[in-house]
Amino acid sequence: MSHRILRFVTRALVSFALLGTSQVFAQQYPAKVITIIVPFAAGGPSDTIARLTAQAMGTVLKTQLIVENAGGAGGTIGAARVAVAKPDGYTLLMHHIGHATAPALYRKLTYDAVRDFEPIGLVNDGAMALVSRKDFPAKNLKELIAYVTANKDKVYLANAGVGSASHLCGMLFMSELNADLTTVPYKGTGPAMNDLLGGQVDFMCDQTTNNASQIKAGKINVYGVTTSKRIAVFPEVPTMNEAGMPNFTVSVWHALYAPKGTPQPIVDQLSKALQVALKDPVLKQRFADLGSEPVEQSRATPEALRAHLKSEIDKWGPIIKKAGVFAD
Ligand code: ASP
Repeated sequence: MSHRILRFVTRALVSFALLGTSQVFAQQYPAKVITIIVPFAAGGPSDTIARLTAQAMGTVLKTQLIVENAGGAGGTIGAARVAVAKPDGYTLLMHHIGHATAPALYRKLTYDAVRDFEPIGLVNDGAMALVSRKDFPAKNLKELIAYVTANKDKVYLANAGVGSASHLCGMLFMSELNADLTTVPYKGTGPAMNDLLGGQVDFMCDQTTNNASQIKAGKINVYGVTTSKRIAVFPEVPTMNEAGMPNFTVSVWHALYAPKGTPQPIVDQLSKALQVALKDPVLKQRFADLGSEPVEQSRATPEALRAHLKSEIDKWGPIIKKAGVFAD
């Protein structure tokens, strides 16, 4: 073979090999469906936020993201599953504030909320609203306080298990009232809402993602939103502060995690996809309709989530310890 032909063949082989590598690399991830584990039942706020986000991220990543519900024990069952999942980017966790409160609430967690996960990014900030079944005999917060105080043993307060946002909010309500009420735990506030509509439970505090449409349709009573400002989706509803509980403020955030050990390029790719997805006009509108808001780009990052998770664990730990609520 002449030198020229040899050079040509070598070059061709090298460029073919390079092309092959880059194609293989590009095809490496994601090469199949990604599963997002939601640690609450279908039809609740975490489920809704996860499904909307999954759809928008799927468009960016050009693959399908499916949501699998693994509810129970305030979100710790689903989180435990993801903690031991294969760290290959195909199993993710969408959890909320409960990921930060579980370490203080659960005596026997099988995972470490910080060490066993790779943070991908924050997703949204959401308001909660205190609501009751339609025929509950209290039309505003003052009446609710009076009724509940007089009927402590007869009212049923629903939640999604120890450490869920609805539980934290309910705890805050009970501590404001200095009352110990009967709580009814569900695997998520989706099924709890069905029972509230059916009259099996009396009231519940939950993200507006779960109750905005029922409030707007007049199917349940609303007493106040838990954020410090009123929310755009129903501006006529007062804040809990305005309605009579000046110290009552809770907001709920969701975030996306991968199991510890997921390669950094995959985590970064997922975080970038999340950032783009959160700007999707359809997602933004759907979030807004539910009284929620996607976080700004700088918070949909591993660094921002790592810092936020830590500060929330530090914030809630002492509050929970002081309240003396624990679960096994
Ligand atoms: N909103 C529920 C909670 O109380 C969880 C859910 O069903 O999404 O934390």
